[in-house]
Amino acid sequence: MMAWFPNATPAVLERAKKIKLVLTDCDGVLTDGGCYYSQNGEELKRFSLRDGMGIERLRLLADIETGFVTKEKTGFVKARAAKLRLSEVHLGVEDKGITIEEIAQERGLSLSEIAFMGDDVNDLPALMKAGLAACPEDSAPSVLEAAHFVSSNRGGHGAFRELAELILFAQGHAPAGEQGRQGQVFSEPRQDVLLYSRKIWKAGLVAASAGNVSARIPGTNLLAITPAAIPYDVMTAQQIAIVDVDSGELVDCPWPPSSELYMHLAIYRQRPGVGAVIHTHSPCVSVLSVLRKPLPPIIDEMIAYLGGTVEVADYAFTGTRELARSAVSGLAERAGVILANHGNVCVGKTLPMALQAALTMETGARVYLESLRLGQPVLLPAESLAAGRTMYEHRIGKNVAD
Ligand SMILES: [Zn+2]
Repeated sequence: MMAWFPNATPAVLERAKKIKLVLTDCDGVLTDGGCYYSQNGEELKRFSLRDGMGIERLRLLADIETGFVTKEKTGFVKARAAKLRLSEVHLGVEDKGITIEEIAQERGLSLSEIAFMGDDVNDLPALMKAGLAACPEDSAPSVLEAAHFVSSNRGGHGAFRELAELILFAQGHAPAGEQGRQGQVFSEPRQDVLLYSRKIWKAGLVAASAGNVSARIPGTNLLAITPAAIPYDVMTAQQIAIVDVDSGELVDCPWPPSSELYMHLAIYRQRPGVGAVIHTHSPCVSVLSVLRKPLPPIIDEMIAYLGGTVEVADYAFTGTRELARSAVSGLAERAGVILANHGNVCVGKTLPMALQAALTMETGARVYLESLRLGQPVLLPAESLAAGRTMYEHRIGKNVAD
């Protein structure tokens, strides 16, 4: 079996493949079962942040929610559940077997689609019903006996994380920290993507962790893309995700890839000549995006760098396949498109070219908005549009859609 899950059998992976909801006991699974007392007698618990990351990865990578089903009803469980934004929180539960049946019914799931992790005898009724019954390695003997999968880690020390990674692996997501195919680490493309992420951040085109950057990895069918929800000032090259362009398979993703992965994949699939994609929320472009106003080429360089009037793609919610589709059609063969009520996407043969497009679009949008305030902007004459278009085609390669 894979080194990450020493106790998993093919039968366990089959069970893990079906899971759509993960429920867990709290004390003894997410904590080590012990407790600390503060000076004023308050009970303190230690939760593993690695387990929290497992919950986050299940949600982001596989759309699998996690919930607590526990006998405890003390503040620490509530606080932890709130921090982890859990959708199912069942406290003070006497019969966990009944509770998981109720949850299954309410969510329209079969019990085979629910995993349960518990460590003690009061977890047995739920463990007997769950499609995948799991427990930490230091569980009660009867629980070890009943579980399909015994984690090789102890409660509060990564037992839950191992279950989360097992489910993700069974469902086709690369385990965290796994090296890419043939052990490649792709450090150069990762460094490049990180560098250009920092550039869009420093140029004020995005704030915090907004926007995203990707590039094709030359000689492969892979792309490197920024991770989800990590602010640019603390992002590291190792966190950049490696994804297969055709299949969308997460080849090496120590962290979930950007939530706009679909959009990047859709653009690369449609435009083989595109080597880099940059999505920003740059301020003046965002104003146009809210006005749903296309940006005409009003400065000479705009047509050369962007390829023509920047259109506004139909609105779709962030991160959806629908947004991916509308971005691709709004982009057509140009170097940039405005995303309605959102921001923009810019493309280029290389990262510097995609950045150039993003900077040119923001500058153009600022000039356009300012000039609209003062009067009616004069558009470029037809000869300039033609000359700029020739420059654009020359830059991007004659047959831009190929
Ligand atoms: Zn965005």
